[in-house]
Amino acid sequence: MFLALAALALPAAAVPRVAVDVGHTLADPGAWSARGRSEFAFNRELAGRLADALAAQGLAVQPVNFTGDIGSLAERPARAAGSDFFISVHHDSIGEEYLSTWDWDGIETTHTDLKRGFGIFVSRRNPDLQRSLNCASAIGTTLRRAGFVPTPWHARKHLPADADNGVWYYDNLVVLHKATFPAVLFEAGVIKHREEELELRDPEWQARMAEAVAEGTAACLTVRGKPARE
Ligand SMILES: [Zn+2]
Repeated sequence: MFLALAALALPAAAVPRVAVDVGHTLADPGAWSARGRSEFAFNRELAGRLADALAAQGLAVQPVNFTGDIGSLAERPARAAGSDFFISVHHDSIGEEYLSTWDWDGIETTHTDLKRGFGIFVSRRNPDLQRSLNCASAIGTTLRRAGFVPTPWHARKHLPADADNGVWYYDNLVVLHKATFPAVLFEAGVIKHREEELELRDPEWQARMAEAVAEGTAACLTVRGKPARE
């Protein structure tokens, strides 16, 4: 079991701060689900639950782009200045060549049965790769313990960092390498997968996932019950 910071009653200055970034924007909402819902809507929902779960772990939270109107990718880590850790929340799709069509409610749209599951990316261009990796592995571990399954699909394009726990290298992700603190990008699941889309929309599923991510984050940011940056 990981020790929750909440139990430690740390002084405010010692409480690690986690920046939670909502991937994409209202104007440029990222991928589309099998049923035509925008990735931004999924990201915004899960990021809100993650902020609550991190606070419940006793961590401070810095929301980034919850209003969906941030101007650039580089602005995201800039708005997280002063944080100890940065997590960008996304939902995944699949390459167009792998999409199939289906009839949903009288509308022809696209989906996949090939890919489902979560993934966590780290950049070797981030100035604190080791802490980024530690946190990514800790988050992958707590997610798996909670019953979530990583997708092996990223092996096609990415080098494994800790593939068992769903962690891959993605060196040129701007939000990760522009950060001056450890950073990960979290793909919660594949919204083009018809079953997984429904799971990812389920408030209970979201809460369980957010709790697992928060637990892994809290474990990684503390060493033997003390903030790791001390
Ligand atoms: Zn995305």
